[in-house]
Amino acid sequence: MNFVRGRFAPSPTGPLHLGNLRTALVAWLMARRVGGEFIVRMEDLDRVTSSPEHEAGQLAALRSIGLDWDGEVVHQSERFALYRAAIDRLRSLGLVYECFCTRSEIRQSARAPQGADLDGVYPGTCRHLTEEQRLAKRAAGRSPALRLLSDGRTVSFDDLVAGPQVGRLDDVVLQRNDGVPAYNLAVVIDDAAQSVTEVVRGDDLLATTPRQIELHRLLDLPVPRYAHVPLVLAPDGSRLAKRHGAVTLDDLAALGFSPGDVCARLAASLGMDTGGRAVMAGALLDRFDPQRMSREPWRLVADDL
Ligand code: GLU
Repeated sequence: MNFVRGRFAPSPTGPLHLGNLRTALVAWLMARRVGGEFIVRMEDLDRVTSSPEHEAGQLAALRSIGLDWDGEVVHQSERFALYRAAIDRLRSLGLVYECFCTRSEIRQSARAPQGADLDGVYPGTCRHLTEEQRLAKRAAGRSPALRLLSDGRTVSFDDLVAGPQVGRLDDVVLQRNDGVPAYNLAVVIDDAAQSVTEVVRGDDLLATTPRQIELHRLLDLPVPRYAHVPLVLAPDGSRLAKRHGAVTLDDLAALGFSPGDVCARLAASLGMDTGGRAVMAGALLDRFDPQRMSREPWRLVADDL
């Protein structure tokens, strides 16, 4: 087996819930069961919603179910210069343009029959603005986001969990209109800079992965393997969130469940029955089999919450 380095990259914007913890557990098991390295990166690009308190809480939650990591936790908020350098590189390749569209304008043009892209992706409205039009937008007080000029190709990849995938490229945002580098760019730069070989994360990010693969290629960076883990759903079928009840370790502790009990429950959802006994992640290393992991979301029942 070649060198494996996995990662967990939460945004420190709130406590980790069962879905986040389950993804972290899978990412850790995938790396550690083959003797690989595992790192944690804080995706705190958004300084308004991120906080050191949430970060501390998230790291404590990971530790309490037995997860560990190698090296220091890296913060995206300290790496803007790297992301900007990557944007400069793409610009020098003629692949960056300014986009002044608001979200609602994008929604509207995606709905209009003429401008609509079949997949509802950004239709390229600002691709061909003249210098004059750009100046007029700026004069009207709009600041631009930066987008990648994509060629609209389809990109395929083989996801270790979700199987073969195909997605069409669109003009992904590289920098938001408030000057903050965009997630899709930052994640690519960091996964490459941190020599991540295996990206294990929630399958809500499956659809954006082709864009990330394309950015890896354009920037001559190695493309990692991807494994997208099905999300945890609330009893009503929506994506699990804080509002659904007892979904964090603290909530569950208040109901008498130890972190080991929660870890056992996560393990059971991944096809490893611990006979109801509390466990730490390390006890699962010999038993975890990614092939036996369900490809379906884990839907909690009302009694669980
Ligand atoms: N920071 C993202 C999140 O918390 C995860 C990004 C990734 O794993 O690529 O949803």
